[in-house]
This record gives sequence, structure tokens and C-alpha cells, in this order.
Amino acid sequence: MLKAIQISGFVTQRWSWRPSVLISTNSKPFSSLFKLLPITTIDSSISTLPRPPIMSFHASSTPQPPSLHSAGNVKNIKFCQWCGGQTKHDIPDGEERLRAICTVCGKIAYQNPKMVVGCLIEHDNKVLLCKRNIEPSHGLWTLPAGYLEFGESAVEGAIRETREEANADVEVISPFAQLDIPLIGQTYMIFLAKLKKPHFSPGPESSECQLFPLDDIPFNSLSFSSMVVTLSLYVEDIKAGKPKFHYGIINKRPGTSPSDIHAYTLDHHMHS
Ligand SMILES: [Zn+2]
Repeated sequence: MLKAIQISGFVTQRWSWRPSVLISTNSKPFSSLFKLLPITTIDSSISTLPRPPIMSFHASSTPQPPSLHSAGNVKNIKFCQWCGGQTKHDIPDGEERLRAICTVCGKIAYQNPKMVVGCLIEHDNKVLLCKRNIEPSHGLWTLPAGYLEFGESAVEGAIRETREEANADVEVISPFAQLDIPLIGQTYMIFLAKLKKPHFSPGPESSECQLFPLDDIPFNSLSFSSMVVTLSLYVEDIKAGKPKFHYGIINKRPGTSPSDIHAYTLDHHMHS
């Protein structure tokens, strides 16, 4: 289940990847598998974007205050999760970020990003979407996806979420996209999958489930930017011949509303 994703009280762009340092395709094993793209903005017209064969990037980031490094506000952690003692907020020795530190047992409450897992289900040249029956983004369309649980692999979580939200039994075919959203501390891992049987129906968190031809995907009624990115990349790949594997960082454009699902850039985009 994915009950609270991609909602943030502020939006700003933390990183700016600029093509200034050329990376040899022989210098990093990764570059033999992926092509790095410079600043790229994806929207439903992604198919028109150029795909340079060799890329370069340079992280010209400006250090941000610790509060901008995490979606969570560490100051909201007022009590220790282990002993219940009161916390203080300080930067521990040897670290750079503000942490909540227990004044009784001394433990530090580290905050780390969460992984969201889901399936992009292909069936008869269509993709399966669910209309959300819960907030946020109630009434908008999404791929079946949600938070990975402890003890699960990413694949197991994606299959479970699909069963919960679409009552569909799927076989995972391959990874399709890893999308980081640093601002809100989330990483999406989306898998391509197919229905084991041609049956699906809305689970408790969905009001409808529907197969959409690629030309009819409701890009203006999707729930989150991550869904716009994933489905845009998928449509582009299929039109070009076959799906690739993608990595990218979704950054909201500064000054835009979190609810504006098209107001983002896909930075540091790499694909197989
Ligand atoms: Zn404690």
C-alpha cells in the first residue's frame, strides 16, 4: 500500500547536473551498460527527446542545510524510539547532518529513504492502471505500487502490491526503472510484469483497474510524477522497439506545487 507518497511541504532543486566533465566510456564499468544523459525534462512528448550516444555529467551541487537533505524533519523526532527518552537535536561528532539523539540512552535516530516497489503490467499491448481509492491523489491513476516491507525482496513486494491493489497474479519479467526522489526520501523500483491469468479487479485501495492502450494512457490524471516518468519512458521505449532499463533522479521544479505532476526534471537519466 502506498498511502503517503510524494507529498512535501516545500519544493526545491538540490542538484544540478551539468555537462562539463567528460567520462570515458572505458573508465567506469557502468558506462558500458548505460548511457548518461545530461539535464533532461520528460513529459508526455518524451519521444521527441534526443538521445546523445556519449554523455558527460558533473555534479555542481551547492551544499544545502541539513534540513534539505531529507524529506523527514528530524526536529519532529522528539522521543527515542528505543527507550522513550527525550531527544536533543545536534550534529554528532564526525557527521555533517542534524540528528535526533536520545538524551537518555544516547542512540541516534537515523532517517533513511524508503523504497517503493511496483509493477508495470503489459497485456495485449496495454498497461494495467489502478484508480486510487485513498489519499493522497484519490481518484487518480497509478501503477500498482507501494512501500517495500521488511523481509521482502523488491520483486516480492512488487508482486504483493499488485495482488493487493489489482487482485492480479503477475510474473515479473525484468526491472524497468529505478527512480530516486531525494527531496522526499523515496526510491522507486518498477518491474515489467505480465498477468499469469487475464484476471484483475480493484482491491481495497483502488476504485477501478483498467488496461490502457499506450495512446490512451491518462497522462493528465496520473497520481504522481514518478508515474508520469515511468509511463513516458515505457511508451517511448515501446515505440522505439523494446523496453530498456532506466535510472533517473526526479526533481521537482523550484517553486512548483507538489501536486503538479508534470513540474519536474528527470536528471542524471541513464538507460541500458
Ligand atoms: Zn533512548
